[in-house]
Amino acid sequence: AVKENGKDNFGLYTDEEQQRRSEYMEIVNDLHHAIDKKQFELFYQPILNLESRKVIAVEALIRWFHPEKGFIPPDKFIPIAEQTGQIHEINSWVLRTACTQKKKWEQMGFEPITFSINFSCKSFTQVDPVKNTQMIINESGVKYDEIQLEITETSLIENFDLAIDTIRELSERGIKFALDDFGTGYSSFTYLKKLPIDCLKIDRDFLLTIEMDKTNEIIVNKVIELAHVLGMKVIAEGIETVEQLEVLKKYGCDRGQGYYFSKPLPSSHIEEFLVKQ
Ligand code: C2E
Ligand code: MG
Ligand code: MG
Ligand code: MG
Repeated sequence: AVKENGKDNFGLYTDEEQQRRSEYMEIVNDLHHAIDKKQFELFYQPILNLESRKVIAVEALIRWFHPEKGFIPPDKFIPIAEQTGQIHEINSWVLRTACTQKKKWEQMGFEPITFSINFSCKSFTQVDPVKNTQMIINESGVKYDEIQLEITETSLIENFDLAIDTIRELSERGIKFALDDFGTGYSSFTYLKKLPIDCLKIDRDFLLTIEMDKTNEIIVNKVIELAHVLGMKVIAEGIETVEQLEVLKKYGCDRGQGYYFSKPLPSSHIEEFLVKQ
């Protein structure tokens, strides 16, 4: 197929575009059944207090095991689900599944820890978002202040006006909010000022070369200072080496997660990190 002058000529695409389109459509189609057919699973990654090395939280990360295509990473289907609106069902499933797991661990006698849940702000533009979110959490009976919703700058910006009221209301009820991937999007300071954010998550990009790259080191240092001045905690994501850990500790980073401590794992594998009461 040929595409002229970059214009859309009724289905005349380059092979590459054609390929991308059919892949997109396949994901949209397959997502329709993914929940019913129980193809999703939540993995959990421990988040540690960097000073005490205690696991203080876990981040829930969705995994899609497709019967034919194998593992499909969230970076591939979450953005598509956000475009089609399928994210609402995914958000609800993730929140419900994580809360159920949290309750299960509490009943097994593990110390309650915060559950950090990736949540697209797009769902805050639906009808009654506060009521719906509360309803899911109430079903499991877990405490609001042990739930942290991780929102990304992108999903926040796209839905800002509707999202802001919901975030404030949920926050008044005790739910915590973390700004995910901080520094990779627009990072407008307006959001930090207007929103009840408890925690900034420094993106792993800044850590990758932190031992050799003075600029990244300065950025991380200053982001931590900024967060602390504003009364927020900082979580560093993607800690892989002891050198990265040392730099972060030097600048007073509160919390961290990464392969250095543990990869995201199925719930049963996380139990060894949890403390029995
Ligand atoms: P994120 O929330 O910023 O999650 C961090 C990503 O970094 C995760 O990738 C995690 O597995 C990975 N990671 C953690 N530590 C390390 C490390 O030390 N080294 C390296 N190389 N990677 C590390 P993952 O699980 O593929 O998720 C990618 C993104 O997809 C997430 O970024 C999040 O934006 C989105 N996502 C994942 N699960 C969910 C979900 O349940 N709901 C929604 N709405 N989005 C999700
Ligand atoms: Mg996250
Ligand atoms: Mg992140
Ligand atoms: Mg990310």
